[in-house]
Amino acid sequence: MKRVYMDANATTPLAPEVFAAMRPWFTEQFGNASSIHFHGQRARAAVERAREHVARLLHCRPAEVVFTSGGTEGDNLALTGVLKPGDHLIASSIEHHAVLHTAERLRDRGVEVTFLPVGASGTVDPEDVRRALKPNTQLVSVMMANNEIGTLQPVAEIGSITQEADVYFHTDAVQAAGKVPIDVKAIGCDLLTISGHKFHGPQGTGALYIRRGTHPEPLLFGGPQERQRRAGTENLPGIVGLGQAAEMAQAFVAGDGPARLADLRNRLEKEILARVDEAGVYGGESPRVSNTTNLWFDHLEGEALVIALDLKGLALSGGSACMSGATEPSHVLTAMGVLPERARASLRFSLDSGSDASATDEDVDFAVELVPAAVARLRELSPVYTGSPRRETTAAGVSR
Ligand code: PLP
Repeated sequence: MKRVYMDANATTPLAPEVFAAMRPWFTEQFGNASSIHFHGQRARAAVERAREHVARLLHCRPAEVVFTSGGTEGDNLALTGVLKPGDHLIASSIEHHAVLHTAERLRDRGVEVTFLPVGASGTVDPEDVRRALKPNTQLVSVMMANNEIGTLQPVAEIGSITQEADVYFHTDAVQAAGKVPIDVKAIGCDLLTISGHKFHGPQGTGALYIRRGTHPEPLLFGGPQERQRRAGTENLPGIVGLGQAAEMAQAFVAGDGPARLADLRNRLEKEILARVDEAGVYGGESPRVSNTTNLWFDHLEGEALVIALDLKGLALSGGSACMSGATEPSHVLTAMGVLPERARASLRFSLDSGSDASATDEDVDFAVELVPAAVARLRELSPVYTGSPRRETTAAGVSR
């Protein structure tokens, strides 16, 4: 059976080059990077080479890169490391749960938290950040690219505001790395999270950029690894893989890869919407990462659509992958003011590039054939759908 994967925002396969780079470090080139003998020195050199690759991807100093177990740990370290009871945190309401749930936990422990609204555009207004600042504001956390709808947030504008106000700025760049160029100085952030498995690195790897002079309290205590910022023996093969993936991601964003993906994504969007009534694009008017589109379809359940398409060989997600199984509408769409019944029927297409799961023109044709047919069939089965009298031309699924 033909299988097409359009869920790259959930995870990507290891690039073959990444797998090849990691392989020897599991077996013959083993070592503990803290040991002083030959094996340890060899492991240390590999870890530091990987750190340089990650630093080049983020445009920072290697010493500012701390290896983590992924995006969730990076976000947790950034927030819990900087905030103490009595401090004020400003975060957007469309952050990933790695930020949102950490913020809620910190609120239980006496941190004051403001969640910023987003409008129908799915982007934060930097002026809302400025307006939310208080004398006790310690940290602003706004993601670089949203995982569900792909909207790029105005992080550089927010960075200027936080620098002016002298408060820390963290950005979750998990969905931006490998899709758009990242320059921590241009953003003006103090902390930035990435995760390896979103750009063809191994799952369970990631890094947090910590600007020189910023000293978050560690999450893990033990040995002196990562300059006392993250204890525990380094995940040598994982770090080597992350470094290789970072090097490839850097080349990808510097080339024409993102533009090619945008062409595929735009055709997918246009052709599906040309064939389906009462459907639209979330955040379609906003700047977005080039691989993502999130479409709404009235009169059906998103879960049913995801399952129907999976049975036909097309893998995608109804909202955030981390949310699948939940019946609640996505917090991102809810924050955008989308009505609950519409928010339940959304499909996130996230195309991959640079791996065995890379999207092709044939894959787009496959989706363009399957999705309208599945929507029509499910609508026919719906007791509330009475046929489409007109083509929906109003704003993208947003209540007024
Ligand atoms: N932040 C964002 C924006 C994400 O999309 C994800 C994963 O989907 C995470 C954080 C968590 O990353 P990880 O899976 O590496 O823990």
